[in-house]
This record gives sequence, C-alpha cells and structure tokens, in this order.
Amino acid sequence: MKRRDFITGTALGATALALNACHRAEEKTKNGSVNINKGKKVTLKLATSWPAHFPIMGTGVDTFAKRCSELSGGTLEIKVFPKNILVPALQVFDATSAAQIDAFHSGVYYWKGKNPAFSIFGGMPLGLTSEEMITWFKFGGGYDLWREMYGKFNLYPLIGGTTGPQMGGWFKKEINSLADLKGLKMRIPGLGGEVMKKLGVNPVLLPAGEIYTSLERGTIDATEWVGPALDSMMGFAKAAHYYYTGWHEPGSILELTFNKARWEKLSNQHKAIITAASEEMTGNMLQEFRYKNAKALQELPKTVQIKTFPKEMMEAAKTALKEVLDDESAKSDDFKRVLKSYKAFVKLNKPWDDISTKNFLEIRG
Ligand code: CA
Repeated sequence: MKRRDFITGTALGATALALNACHRAEEKTKNGSVNINKGKKVTLKLATSWPAHFPIMGTGVDTFAKRCSELSGGTLEIKVFPKNILVPALQVFDATSAAQIDAFHSGVYYWKGKNPAFSIFGGMPLGLTSEEMITWFKFGGGYDLWREMYGKFNLYPLIGGTTGPQMGGWFKKEINSLADLKGLKMRIPGLGGEVMKKLGVNPVLLPAGEIYTSLERGTIDATEWVGPALDSMMGFAKAAHYYYTGWHEPGSILELTFNKARWEKLSNQHKAIITAASEEMTGNMLQEFRYKNAKALQELPKTVQIKTFPKEMMEAAKTALKEVLDDESAKSDDFKRVLKSYKAFVKLNKPWDDISTKNFLEIRG
C-alpha cells in the first residue's frame, strides 16, 4: 500500500467507524437500551461506619452494591468495606473528602462538628418523619443546600436509607416527671442530646460497642439506640424501662456520599444507576425497619416495661428545642439558612398532613 493510500484509507476507515458508532448509539436510544460503559469497568471503594453485614443498615449497603453491579451489567463495582478496615468508623467523611476512598455510608449527625447545619440534614428532634424528610430533600430544596454545603468538602451526598421513627430509649429508673431527668447520664447524640442537656440530662457520646457495658456498670443511666429490632440485639432489655416515642429522632437520614471529583468523572449511566439504587435502598430500609421493629416489639422479654414519656417532659423539650435552634442559628449562618428552608417546608406540609395522614391515623385508631 502506498503511503497516500494508507492515509486516505485510514481517514475513511475512521470516518466510517465514527458514523457507525453514531448509528449504533442512535439505535440504542431508539431501543431504550443503552450500555455506554460496555467493556469499561469502574470500581469504587466505599467504607461504612458499621460492622460487616450489620443488620438493616449494613445489609442495606451490601444490597445497594449488588444492585449497582446488576443494573450496570457488571461495569460498576462498589467494594464495601466495613468500619475500621480501610478507615476508622468516624473517619469516613474525611477520608472521602481527601479522595483516599471514593464513598462512604454513615449517619449525617456525626458531622455536626464540620458544620452545625449538617445536623439538620440528619433529622430534627420533634420534626419531620422519614417520608417528610425525603420530600423536603427532593422537592423542598434540602438536596440543593446539602450538596452546596458538602461541595465545600469535595463531597456529593445522596440519601442512603432512613430509620423511620426510633424509640425514646432505655432507662434504668422510671421517668415520671421532669425532675427525674436531672443529673441523668444518657447516651444520646445530636440535637436531641442538646435538648436533653437543657432538661438537666448529662448527654454522652459512646460508640456502639461500649453502650451495653456502660449501662451495666452504671457509667450511664440511660441510652437511646434505634428501635426494637436493633435494640434487642444489644442486650439493653436489662435496663427494663423502654420509653417511646423517639421524639429526638423521628426520621433520621443515613447518607451515601461520594467524593465529588470522582462522582463528576462517572458516566451519566453510572450516576443514574447509583442514584436509582440509592432510592431503592432508602425505600427498602424504611420498610425493613417497619417490619422488623413491629415483629421485635412483640418479642421483647415480658420483664421490659414499655412506657411513654411524661407530658410535661415533652412540653419542656419543645421549649428547649426552640432555644437550641435559636442558639445554633446565632452561631452559624449555614444553620440559619438550612433551618429557614426546613421550616418553609414544615409550614407548607403541615396543613396537608393534618387533614390527610394525621387525621386518617386518628380516625383509623
Ligand atoms: Ca438513635
């Protein structure tokens, strides 16, 4: 082949290939079947704050990874690393921000120290339920604020499940009045802990592995955790008094957060798969919590006394929450901005909720 022929031939060949590729892409679009990542496998490292295969939360992220692989035809692999394997449980935020890992699965309220506003994304005491929180994120501007504020840490967050309503916690002694809370040492995190502090409680933060022994040894007098399904595995039943409702965590949000630069490099197809799988995970987790909590409640030992908090305590908690929110707003403009958006959604949502869900549940009895 002469050089000139070779050049021409190659150019023609390249044009033909390009046209062919366009044609194929067009065909795929018509079919609705797109596999733009064919042959190019992407692997992402995701660390969690939970032990391996931890019920509901850990198994939820395992299923999420499996679904990403299935939906992408094997081109997207998410490798899940339980806590302390790649990074310590509560270092996942920093490690993802610094691109040491690609993503993490954790609870949003852990990062209050990074920015006080993050505690609102995790859920509000006496505030929105899980379904309402998700609605605020998706339709009420919550996601825009969350992504803007996480963007400053080179992070891109997605909701990664939610617990539904939690329980109020386990108490060694009965709580009959506000006075019974004075001086009580309780494991309770986040804004709920701040509210409890104003009611005379001494809130402490303990890792999951230390709660049971602290309760048994009397280092703490009370603890909250999640709900019957997960609490019954922790051995808390010995504390005997199990209080409802989890006013401090009516709809806590878990997160599936990616390194932002890594996220932006993903194909649109992989972004769509991750987004869809995260929504599936969120729905599944909420339903699994509901079913397993309902079942575990029936199976609690007979020695456990299930009680509701005194009315005066809940009234005092409402007043204390207002003070906590005022204090935080005065300290942080971001907190103030997020609270404003959150409150706007509450205002919009409440009249409709009052005549729909709330009213129906009262009628249903
Ligand atoms: Ca909790």
